[in-house]
Amino acid sequence: MESVVNGCIKKKIINFSPGPAKIPEEVLEIAQKELVDFQGHGLSVMEMSHRSKEFESIIFGAEKTVRELLDVPANYKVLFMQGGGAGQFSAVPLNLMRTGTADYLVSGSWSQAAAKEAKKYGTVHLVAPTPEKFGSVPDESEWKFSDNSSYFYHCGNETVHGVELPTTFTSVPGHLPIVADISSSLMSRKFDVSKYGMVFGGAQKNVGCAGVVLGIIREDLFGHARKECPSVLDYKLLDAHTSLYNTPPCFNVYVMGLVLNWIKKHGGLDAMDEMSQRKSSLIYSVIDKSNGFYYNPVDKRYRSRMNVPFRVGGVNGDEELEKRFLQEAGKLHMVQLKGHRSVGGMRASLYNAVTVEETQVLADFMQDFYDRNRV
Ligand code: PMP
Repeated sequence: MESVVNGCIKKKIINFSPGPAKIPEEVLEIAQKELVDFQGHGLSVMEMSHRSKEFESIIFGAEKTVRELLDVPANYKVLFMQGGGAGQFSAVPLNLMRTGTADYLVSGSWSQAAAKEAKKYGTVHLVAPTPEKFGSVPDESEWKFSDNSSYFYHCGNETVHGVELPTTFTSVPGHLPIVADISSSLMSRKFDVSKYGMVFGGAQKNVGCAGVVLGIIREDLFGHARKECPSVLDYKLLDAHTSLYNTPPCFNVYVMGLVLNWIKKHGGLDAMDEMSQRKSSLIYSVIDKSNGFYYNPVDKRYRSRMNVPFRVGGVNGDEELEKRFLQEAGKLHMVQLKGHRSVGGMRASLYNAVTVEETQVLADFMQDFYDRNRV
C-alpha cells in the first residue's frame, strides 16, 4: 500500500502513536513543498533569522490562529516555549508558586511527574489521595484545597493511562488559578480559557512536531518568577520578547502554524471534538461488547477520547495473544499500538490527524480478532 505525496512514494500505514504522532498529510505536503523555498523567499524556514519579517509572520500568524480557535481572551498571553511538556513541570512552579504552596491532583503518570518536580520548589498539597491504580479520579466533592495555595494543577488528559478530565470544575475555589497540562488533548475540544490561569501542551500529539510547547497564561499571574528561574523559562521575559527572547524552534513553530490552519480548515474545534468522540466510541464499543476479552481499566466517566489503553485476553492481558494482536495489526499496516511500558497491553492514540476511516480499520480488526480468538 503506497501513496504519492508531491511525487514521492509514501508507504501507507495507519499510525496510532501516542506522540510524536501522526501529522495530517496535507500539512506534510505543504511543509515538503516549502522546505527548500518558503513562499518564494529563496530560503527554508530552517535557514531564516527568527528576527526576520518572514518568521515574524509565521509565529504571529500561529498565535492569531491559536487565539481564534480557542477564543483566547485579550488578557491571556500566548507563548511558544522550549523544554517540552516536562519543562513546564518546572516552569509552572518556578513562575507561579508565589506562596510556596500549590494544590495538585494526581490522576496518572504525567500529573504525578509534575507534582514530583514541583516539590523541588515548594510544598505540593494533593487535593485527593493518589489512586493505587490509575483509571479513576476521586470524586470532586471530596477534593480538599489548601488555604495558601498559588494554583490548582491537573493533567487534562493522561496520555499513558487514558484518563481524561472534564474541562470545568465545581469544587475549585473561585480565586484559585487552574493550571492544566493539556499536552495530549490540546486543540481536540473547546474549553473556556477564561476559567483557567494557564494551560500548556507540547505540540507533538495534536498540533505538530516535538520541540515546541504552547502556553496560554493569564497575564496578571506572571512577573513573580523565583530568582533562580532560568530566563528561558521565565514567562514574563518570554512574553516581553513575544516568544523571541532566544532562538525559538522555528521550524516546529512553522509546522504548528500549518496544523492549526488545517484544524481551522477542517471545521475547528467543534469538528475535532465531534470526530474524536466518534473515533473513540468505535474502539470503546468493541471493547465493551467483547465480554472482557478486551479490557480498558478506566472509569467510563473519565475515558479518554485521545488515548485508549486496553489489554487483550482479559484484565491482565494474555502475553501470547497480545503479541499476535500486534503482529496481525502490523500486517494490516497499523503501527505504534503497543501500550506504554509501565502499563503493558495496547494503546490506540486517536489524535486529530487520525481519521475516522483509519479508526474503523482498527475497530474492524479488533472485532475480527475477537471473533477468531474468543473462548
Ligand atoms: N504531559 C503529557 C500529558 C504528556 O503526554 C507528555 C509526553 N508524552 C508530557 C507531559 C511530557 O512531554 P515532553 O516529552 O515533551 O517533555
